[in-house]
Amino acid sequence: MQESPVAVVTGGSRGIGRGIALALASCGHDIVLNYARNEEAARATAAQITERGRVCRMVRGDVSRIEDHPGILEAASRGFGRVDLLVNNAGIAPRVRLDLLETSPESYDEVMSTNLRGPMFLTQAFARRMLELKKGGTVPHPRIVFISSISAYVASPSRGEYCISKAGLAMLAQLFAARLAGEGIPVFEVRPGIIATDMTAKVKGKYDTLIAEGLVPQGRWGTPEDVGRAVAAIARGDLDFSTGQVIEVGGGFSMRVL
Ligand code: NAP
Repeated sequence: MQESPVAVVTGGSRGIGRGIALALASCGHDIVLNYARNEEAARATAAQITERGRVCRMVRGDVSRIEDHPGILEAASRGFGRVDLLVNNAGIAPRVRLDLLETSPESYDEVMSTNLRGPMFLTQAFARRMLELKKGGTVPHPRIVFISSISAYVASPSRGEYCISKAGLAMLAQLFAARLAGEGIPVFEVRPGIIATDMTAKVKGKYDTLIAEGLVPQGRWGTPEDVGRAVAAIARGDLDFSTGQVIEVGGGFSMRVL
């Protein structure tokens, strides 16, 4: 019988997902580490999880492909025999930032299927399994997290499809929170601000300037560790009576200051 709690982190090989996986390992979770294609990065993260004394199972799978979902589910369910936490972190920016008047249906479909359609059906599959595990007494406190973005409410016309996907993800978190509240499964939206990862490396100069000019009240880039700590608080159960809440990890970005 697997005694330690098990967390599944999609897109856990790099960036924010790696920060989350390491924070969860540090607070006693064994990890199912999903990644899309970068096996080397996934192995590096897995090694850091092992260094923390936890077990890591790597599972390659594209969250935008529904046919890849059973493999991710079974890595937890069969591999460990339980799943306590699902973190929907995997996500992409548009390959090219294009003005709203220029962007293509292909870019729209790729971003939406990875950032919104995939998490919708992956969470559906995990929620069903969590209900069974809870009823069977294997997992007393299952929880679900969606990693959205401040782009859920900030309009960036040069990457509209990303903003639409994150606004949709915010509603998806609300929907699962509402559906699962009475079942004893809290659901949270964690909303990162500007975080230093491969995703933002291309626009580092632009954001360095904006941050220096005061865009972020706390005056610095966020880190994957900042997001990891917020998810760890959820995993520990510290926020269990707050289902459906949004936790922004943005250095005060959303504050209006006069
Ligand atoms: P990143 O550095 O580009 O890393 C993306 C991660 O997602 C990688 O582990 C990648 O796996 C995985 N991934 C990509 N497409 C996937 C797919 N189809 N199926 C499974 N895994 C996939 O990005 P990040 O900055 O850490 O972003 C992580 C999440 O935070 C995303 O949802 C993003 O929208 C959100 N976010 C980021 C920021 C920011 O400023 N960075 C701000 C707000 C929200 P491989 O290594 O195999 O490619």
